[in-house]
Formats: sequence, C-alpha cells, structure tokens
Amino acid sequence: MTNLDPNSTPRNVTRDGGEGATLESVSALPRRSILMIGLGLLAGCATTASQTARMPGPLWPDPALWSSRTKPTAPVTPLPPPTPTLAGVISRTSWTKGNPDTANIDPMLPVKWITIHHDGMTPFLATDYSSCASRIELIRNGHRGKGWADIGYHFIVDRSGRVWEGRDLRYQGAHVKDQNEGNLGILCIGNFDQQSPSMAQLVALDRHLRVCMLKYKVKSKCVLSHQEWASAKTACPGRNLQSKMSGIRRAIA
Ligand SMILES: [Zn+2]
Repeated sequence: MTNLDPNSTPRNVTRDGGEGATLESVSALPRRSILMIGLGLLAGCATTASQTARMPGPLWPDPALWSSRTKPTAPVTPLPPPTPTLAGVISRTSWTKGNPDTANIDPMLPVKWITIHHDGMTPFLATDYSSCASRIELIRNGHRGKGWADIGYHFIVDRSGRVWEGRDLRYQGAHVKDQNEGNLGILCIGNFDQQSPSMAQLVALDRHLRVCMLKYKVKSKCVLSHQEWASAKTACPGRNLQSKMSGIRRAIA
C-alpha cells in the first residue's frame, strides 16, 4: 500500500500508508530511494514481512464491527495552524531538520483513539539525548523511505522518560494499517520482545497518556496497543509492554 506518487491517490485516504505497507515498484526507484527503503525495513514497529504475508486481503474491517472507528470520506477542510507543543514535550525541530511531505498527508480528525507501539528494532538501552534523537531520526528516515509523509507516530517516549514530538497532530499518523483516522500514535523506544521498558519510560508513558486523554477527551477503553487492533497482524508493542497494557488502562481510567 506504499504510495510513492503523492498525486496518484485521492484526498481523504491515508496516503502515507501505515505499518504493514508493502514495497511495490522498488525496482523503479532511484538508488537513493532504495537506500532509504533499506533503512525503512529496519525502522519502526512494523508488522513483519511474514506477518504481512499472512494478512487477509482486503484488510478493511467488517463495517458493522468497526463503524464507530471509521468514517466515510469527509469533505476536505483547511488544516488548522501548527499544534503548540505540549508542555514538557521536546519539539520535533530539536531532533530533525526534516519536514513532512505535506502533499502526501491527511489532516487529523478529532482524536478518538490512542495507540501504543514499540519500535521493534534492535534492543536499545541508551538514555542520552543524542542517542535517542538519532534513533528517532533513523525511524523517521525509515518511514520516509517507505514513501510515507513523515515519521508515523505523533509522540515518542524514550527510556529516560523524555517525550518527543513526532508527527504534528494536525496530521493523521501512519501507525495502524487502515485505522489512522483520529488515532494518536505513541512510540516507546525499544524492542519489548527482547527487553523490558524502563520504569522511567512507563511512568512517562502513563503521564503522557493522561495529558493526551484529558486534552482530547479520550476514554481509557480507547487506549489500545497496536496488536489490539483487529486489522493489525503484529506483535507490537512486544510481549513485555503488551503484558502491562491492562495495568496501564487501569491506572489511567
Ligand atoms: Zn506498532
């Protein structure tokens, strides 16, 4: 579902994909794009290739089941002004000079859901600012290399408890296949199939969830992990974070 030609897809479709996107037409790409895609395969908590292969198609869910989570095509409305960075959140200009591809991005609808991810890359124990910034930039480059408009997640939580701004909340994210409308994505740095989240990371995640739930009036039952979406065939956010989801929801309820 990767769309490398921003002009080829109509408005109001999540044009920059979402995890699980495939990489058609790679052979037609210039060498630099192929390199970026190589990075992309490394980055993000993306569904694995074998998981993608197992996905039934099409993945658009049963409308009767998901009618409250999807909306029909809405009229195009102008984007609101840039979202002010939430208090305590490191602005994206602090860690990247890259700008989103605004020709290939949809406006964010009112936030109704929050989804938690891990990056699923190599285990990561660093807590210093520069290593964390580099890891996030690697993920952003990987997502851009897939043809997405920007890093797929709206916020990133590192092991020391910093919260970083990812994709501006004016824009729909790209983090749950076919379910990005009104869905705020939070990435916890690390691979939680192979390591555990740090206490500082869990505390920061809890605090940031509360901030977002209050600001956007999201109920705790609408805070899901990536694998809790029926359309997402993925192990994300890894068993050592997934095992904490019930406790997280209880704490923020
Ligand atoms: Zn995920």
